[in-house]
Amino acid sequence: MTNQYDILISGGGLVGGSLALAIQHSGLKIGLIELQTAEQKKHSPAGERVLAISQGSKQLLEQSGLWQTVTTASEPIKTIQVSDRGYLGKTRLSAKREGVDALGYVLEARQLDLALLQQLEQATVDVIAPAKMTHLDNTSPASVAVTIEHKDGTQEIKQTRLLVAADGGNSSIRQQLGIHTRQVDYDQTALITRVNAQIPVDSIAYERFTESGPLAFLPMGRSNYSVVWTLQPRQAQTMMELSEQDFIQRLQQAFGYRLGRITLTSARHVFPLQLLHSKEMTANRVALIGNAAHQLHPVAGQGFNLGLRDAACLANLIRSDSETITDPGRAEILEEFAQMRNTDHQRVINFTNSLIWLFSSDWSLLGHARSLGLMTLDRIPWLKHRLAKAAMGM
Ligand SMILES: Cc1cc2nc3c(=O)[nH]c(=O)nc-3n(C[C@H](O)[C@H](O)[C@H](O)COP(=O)(O)OP(=O)(O)OC[C@H]3O[C@@H](n4cnc5c(N)ncnc54)[C@H](O)[C@@H]3O)c2cc1C
Repeated sequence: MTNQYDILISGGGLVGGSLALAIQHSGLKIGLIELQTAEQKKHSPAGERVLAISQGSKQLLEQSGLWQTVTTASEPIKTIQVSDRGYLGKTRLSAKREGVDALGYVLEARQLDLALLQQLEQATVDVIAPAKMTHLDNTSPASVAVTIEHKDGTQEIKQTRLLVAADGGNSSIRQQLGIHTRQVDYDQTALITRVNAQIPVDSIAYERFTESGPLAFLPMGRSNYSVVWTLQPRQAQTMMELSEQDFIQRLQQAFGYRLGRITLTSARHVFPLQLLHSKEMTANRVALIGNAAHQLHPVAGQGFNLGLRDAACLANLIRSDSETITDPGRAEILEEFAQMRNTDHQRVINFTNSLIWLFSSDWSLLGHARSLGLMTLDRIPWLKHRLAKAAMGM
């Protein structure tokens, strides 16, 4: 390991890893620090979450050659059916009507994580793992110094021109820089699990609004579904403690019988949900991307998609600027990056928050209005088209 880099990325998750692949041929010296081993990633419960990948993200993943390696493990979403438990209103968004092959794709996070690690092994990137970035000093105008800890002790990387924080929602880089965040605690928890359904239906994702919160069934092929159920933390705890049979009964009650009887095929996991939005995306010679900059509620399935666009934007700026070859961390690049990403962040956060507000409220008046809204939406093609575009991350 050298102690000088042009770009050092802290965090080799889905977003940091994607950035490393995207800039590997830039002619710059690139390092990637990752806390976990491949073995830990293989067994982490977080790997069980399933991602809805937008068309735009699929294209970005194709450019780095990653999509080609996971395509057989992915399932297209050809239809999204939105309904409301206890009310008649429903609407269907269809890929055919939108003139696309799929509205999005469903993929297990672990599959993408492992494919990414495999490609990084072949890439011209120094992967430093398992190692933890513990300290940074960005007071010099010319470079950042970084301290890392690994099994052989502590080491200093004396100079990197640009440090990229891709170290997730609890970003230690963001905290060390004293960058404030806007935080909203939704008082909600995502319970995720997998089920198999009795009636085979291909490529339909179901989004159902229940008294306790939004319930999504994402198709995984062969009548298998990934379930994401947003619940209040106390309800989630109760659901975790229920026997398998009782849990399935509650889930079936909430979802209904449109797919016949459902059976549980995996363990249940919970993830607390909050919005966390960094007030700054950059500091002297530092850029924040992915969850380090914004951690979203998964109701709209946009967190990774948004993070991937951060990585793509930064990669484009780095590759297209002739001066980056000498200095990829200069202020002009970072300012442009922050400016370019701001609108997308605000748009996705507002879209996500409006879905949470609308679909997590169980006031009966709002329930009726929502049901009426879904019925109306179903009859207004241009409005449906706009919703479909938002769901596709366009
Ligand atoms: C239940 C659930 C469902 C979701 N569904 C969707 C969906 O359908 N679509 C979608 O787009 N998004 C979805 N998301 C969001 C998506 O999972 C995240 O936005 C995405 O994984 C963020 O990736 P990241 O690389 O920025 O952060 P992370 O995945 O958190 O990666 C951060 C990495 O940094 C490493 N790290 C941390 N600290 C250090 C350190 N000090 N030194 C070195 N390394 C460090 C960690 O080990 C980790 O590998 C969902 C999230 C949840 C919880």
